[in-house]
Amino acid sequence: MPTATFTYQFRCVPRDWNKVAHCIGRLCVCQVHRVSNLARWLCQGHVNLILQCLLADSYHFWWTDLEAQLAQDVPYSAIFCSTLMPKMGLDYNMLKCRSPNPSTILTVLRGCNNMKRLKKIHAYAIVSGLQHHPYISNGLLNFCAVSVAGSMTYAQHLFHHMYNPSTTAWNSIIRGFSQSSSPLQALHYYNAMISSSVSLPNTYIFSFVLKACEKVKDEKKCREVHGSIIRRGYERDVIVCTNLMRSYAGNELIDIARRVFNDMSDRDLVSWNCMLSCYSQAGFHQDALTLYYQMRDQKVGLDGFTLVGLVASCAHIGALNIGIQMHKIARKKGFINDIYVANALIDMYAKCGSLDSALSIFNKIRKKDVLTWNSMIVGYGIHGQGDKAISLFKQMLMAKVRPTSITFLGLLCGCSHQGLVEEGIQYFNLMSSQFNLKPELKHYGCIVDLFARAGQLMKAFELIQTSPFDHPVLWRTLLSSCKIHKDVMIGEIAMKNLVRIGTPNAGDYVLMATLYAEAKNIDGVLQMRQMLKSQGIKTTVGWSWIEVGEQIHKFVVDDNSHPDFVEIYDKLKEMTHRAALLGYVQEDEAIDTDLKSSTSYHSEKLAIAFGLVKTPAGSCLRIMKNLRVCSDCHTFIKLISKAFDREIIVRDRVRFHHFSNGSCSCGDYW
Ligand SMILES: [Zn+2]
Ligand SMILES: [Zn+2]
Repeated sequence: MPTATFTYQFRCVPRDWNKVAHCIGRLCVCQVHRVSNLARWLCQGHVNLILQCLLADSYHFWWTDLEAQLAQDVPYSAIFCSTLMPKMGLDYNMLKCRSPNPSTILTVLRGCNNMKRLKKIHAYAIVSGLQHHPYISNGLLNFCAVSVAGSMTYAQHLFHHMYNPSTTAWNSIIRGFSQSSSPLQALHYYNAMISSSVSLPNTYIFSFVLKACEKVKDEKKCREVHGSIIRRGYERDVIVCTNLMRSYAGNELIDIARRVFNDMSDRDLVSWNCMLSCYSQAGFHQDALTLYYQMRDQKVGLDGFTLVGLVASCAHIGALNIGIQMHKIARKKGFINDIYVANALIDMYAKCGSLDSALSIFNKIRKKDVLTWNSMIVGYGIHGQGDKAISLFKQMLMAKVRPTSITFLGLLCGCSHQGLVEEGIQYFNLMSSQFNLKPELKHYGCIVDLFARAGQLMKAFELIQTSPFDHPVLWRTLLSSCKIHKDVMIGEIAMKNLVRIGTPNAGDYVLMATLYAEAKNIDGVLQMRQMLKSQGIKTTVGWSWIEVGEQIHKFVVDDNSHPDFVEIYDKLKEMTHRAALLGYVQEDEAIDTDLKSSTSYHSEKLAIAFGLVKTPAGSCLRIMKNLRVCSDCHTFIKLISKAFDREIIVRDRVRFHHFSNGSCSCGDYW
């Protein structure tokens, strides 16, 4: 066969390589009968290779392999090139100087890991005239847009030099921007793609655009893309619908997300998990648990993600019993060694007031990661056990795990609740000096709290002034400590600053008014009442939850919506009577924020009454509350714990109160 034919085929008709390889294969088979033993053996090897190439429909495989063998100086490859190839009508040098091979560029591109290298490859492609080769141009663009080492600027540059960007190219650029810090660009490219009308969006493009809608919080665009999805017949695509749900939920349209979920004809575990995480991220933990029961009834099964989401929801609403069920399932299905599940369980037990169970899981984990340590340290912190948090922190350092800002939050929280002033300040300073962590607002909040609780109100005040944050949270923390220490002067400063920032809430006015009332400053009380009314500030509704069995029962102040409300109010009368026998006198609030009669029942009282009715004598009651416990309820619950001989654990917005036998773990210091 004349050499020229091969050259031609090598250069111009890569699709015909089947034929070429077939010819070579035939030639080699012929050679088998003629050459020496050694050469025969070599030939056979290459015949096999060529046959493989034939099967794989790729000559590149054979060529790359031969080149690799030459590079490694494998003798039989050299013999093959020098003796057999000429006989087959092939000249190795001619082949080597062949026109640049797209496959070589693609191979190099596959191994590329930085932009400097990518630019060299791009230059080589341009010199070789291959920059518009579809695989090469898409490969270059894909690296720039999608790889962590890529560059969106360069990706845009490449994209704008494409004649007619293919769907793959649109996909890369939209995906790149949807994952970048400028997701709005993804929407611009999507619009451009739609108006170009050459390429059509596919499953992936829809998914990335939806992600961008979620990130830029563009609810309108999300609805518009939903329309396109329906028009183009993708409304049955599981991946697209799952991303659609996430996008709606990210735009705070959780009901529509649920409707999309309900309308899906096929749902896989990923879509169930997605709906669960949408609920828990939006704070609809109760709905997340209800969805899980549906999942269980439909025998969908579950995985580590499902468990982590559900356990986190249990932690939020303090659903210990359901959390325990999840723990059992995790053990039964073999997810207990999944570090994410185990960490979520520690967090759940700690936040549901069961520190012993949290510790027992913590001790069983062999390879603890930073989240494991953090969950346990924060657990001790919110329970006010600063000393235990500190001892665990020391163990963490010994285990060579680097603490994060969350670790310090747990430590500082524990120190402030336990009154460990010196230790707290020491760890606060350690953050930046040794671990290069910049204290955030929450850390400053803990230290203000630490000083203020310990009665060092001036120091707390100075710290706020020198802190980089002029935030209402800090002033509010100071104000509530002023109430404990009855310091009207600093209280007034804190209140003035809250008014200056323009964010006082009803609770602040109530605190200040109480402070005035205790100092017998009637004018002050009237002024606060006036300000509260004139500014029309809405109070945050106080909620309390109690878990009985697998059900969460939620109460608001003077709630009579519960089906058992008659029983609950009967119990409340009995409770008030028995507390009075122990010396309970209801405290007056300086301002009645709920505008109810002074004998109103706060939600935690209702939840406790319900718990006393529905649970067996002697069992522990666990109440969760979204606000701080007021001083009247605190006194009341202490007496109830004694009168009914019950342990009552209340988790308020800030910390845990373990009430038993007439006293509270916080030592009336919260
Ligand atoms: Zn109360
Ligand atoms: Zn307490």
